Amino acid sequence: MGRLPAHRSTRGEGSGELKQIIRSEARRLGFKLCGFAPVQPPPHGEFVRRWLHDGYAGTMSYLGRGRKKRLEPALVLPAARSVVTVGFPYRRAPAPGLDWREQLRGRIAAYASGPDYHGVVLAKLEQLAAVMRAHGSHATRAYVDTGPILEREWAGLGGLGWVGKNTMILHRHEGSWFFLGEIFTDYEFDPEPIAADHCGSCRRCLDLCPTGALQPGHLLDARLCLSYLTIEYRGAIPRPLRPRLGEWIFGCDICQEVCPWNEKPSRAVAANEALFPYLPELLALDTAAYQRRFAGSAVSRARRDCFVRNVAVVLGNTGNPQAVPVLAGALAHDASALVRAHAAWGLGQIAGAAARGALGRARRRESDAGVQSEIAAALERAPLASAAASL
Ligand code: SF4
Repeated sequence: MGRLPAHRSTRGEGSGELKQIIRSEARRLGFKLCGFAPVQPPPHGEFVRRWLHDGYAGTMSYLGRGRKKRLEPALVLPAARSVVTVGFPYRRAPAPGLDWREQLRGRIAAYASGPDYHGVVLAKLEQLAAVMRAHGSHATRAYVDTGPILEREWAGLGGLGWVGKNTMILHRHEGSWFFLGEIFTDYEFDPEPIAADHCGSCRRCLDLCPTGALQPGHLLDARLCLSYLTIEYRGAIPRPLRPRLGEWIFGCDICQEVCPWNEKPSRAVAANEALFPYLPELLALDTAAYQRRFAGSAVSRARRDCFVRNVAVVLGNTGNPQAVPVLAGALAHDASALVRAHAAWGLGQIAGAAARGALGRARRRESDAGVQSEIAAALERAPLASAAASL
């Protein structure tokens, strides 16, 4: 590996050689994509400012708190002149090959089914940054969804792909199944060509999003997005949106799965318990068991109560009377009012005499007003015979 003179500006002569060194090291580390972006105000800064102002970020107030740094990259690392931007692939889930309603199975987004990417990808980025320092960069700072930066802006500026209508970075060969990472550096690299937008007139992601969270103009209303609702949002999921969760208990891959640029079935990982877990077991997890079960996974970053809340909703969405005993157990015994409230809702969705019985017993002993109101609403809409029983 040829060592370059320790100067910070590598524009012109030397830039290409160092880029090659970084690209080949990135490839060795498993990064499928690698690009170079000049540090500049983000091209869509005004769009992001308006998006935050208009409330599309929902309760993700940390996005607003980090706004200044997101919009002024010089504040991230004053010496930075370029951003090395990379894509680390992960495998999409296969078609489930099972009836989730019948088998009481939920779904976890593909990215979260393996080891926590934050640690895995950051460790590799740090190795790449070490190589850059060995070639004279005096300042590097690495990010993998770990700081106040607009990752997709850098990926776009670095030539990794275009921002699709599903708001993901899309690459003609790699689709969107990759994590983004960035290294800010005081090197000044020649910029990469910007990728053209290849979405064309396709609008599959907009049409098939179960909640209408995607709007034309690359606008994502996070408040409607299942990834936000199941991972970030900590309150009661709005009742009209609960059926829209379908089988998703953590994240949602629909707008990636339906994208034509992601149609590469050979890249799917085999179906397994991490992707399609058995819901009754998850509903019974207390905090310690939850941490044990998802140790080392991105799922452990969510709160146990919120995760189990999602499980209760999806059990309700199965409409399967076999879910009644576990939902009744959660309604009777779970320490979290959030979980009990969603267990009540789930019972209301399944309905039938057993579900109504559990709701009636809970109504007599429940002391939390919010849960009481869920029980009342569930009893109101739950007929004596379950929908599944009448099929
Ligand atoms: Fe819609 Fe799911 Fe995509 Fe969110 S992740 S925008 S809910 S399809």
